[in-house]
Amino acid sequence: MDIILLGPPGAGKGTQAQRLQAKRGMIQLSTGDMLREAVAKGSPVGLKAKAVMEAGKLVNDAIVSALIGERLDSAAAHGAIFDGFPRTGHQAEALEILLGERGRKIDYVIELAVDEEALVDRITGRFTCANCGAPYHDTFHVPKAAGTCDICGEHEFKRRPDDNEATVRERMAEYRAKTAPILPIYEAKGLVRRVDGMASVDAVAKAIDDILDSPAA
Ligand SMILES: [Zn+2]
Repeated sequence: MDIILLGPPGAGKGTQAQRLQAKRGMIQLSTGDMLREAVAKGSPVGLKAKAVMEAGKLVNDAIVSALIGERLDSAAAHGAIFDGFPRTGHQAEALEILLGERGRKIDYVIELAVDEEALVDRITGRFTCANCGAPYHDTFHVPKAAGTCDICGEHEFKRRPDDNEATVRERMAEYRAKTAPILPIYEAKGLVRRVDGMASVDAVAKAIDDILDSPAA
């Protein structure tokens, strides 16, 4: 079972990928991590990538594909979770070839979907007690007595500067731009499954399990 896992910041992709590795023995292939590892090991592809990066250039599709080819076989037993790859139609084709050579294919593209408005509400409403750090939320968890911390009784609160609407919307826009080139490719093949990323960690985990345990697409 080889899958692509997609999700914007705040959707819990890292948590779910870790769980799939621990529970199912799948191997997460994150291109950033693989690149660093190959360079550190000095593998043939790593040496090539290192030369390109030292010349101040971006590592191209051919190198990324070779890197994934190197690692695919190590993820043969229980499958791979692709994270951050493919990002372009070209890369999606390259991946199909790499997998096809091994009698494999992408079985599912699982997107942890978030509702942008709900995500904005969830993140921008957060604040904490400046004294004891107790967490609160404008909508979901206000102090019992307005302006007074339930835990320590102090009256000062603070908010993280990046918990603002503009930052959340910027991250969502980046995510959409990154997935826009590849989602339609996999939609056309009927492989995309959406899971509610706003649900609890356990509920998301169960939804993913149900997809992976269902008969192949
Ligand atoms: Zn407090």
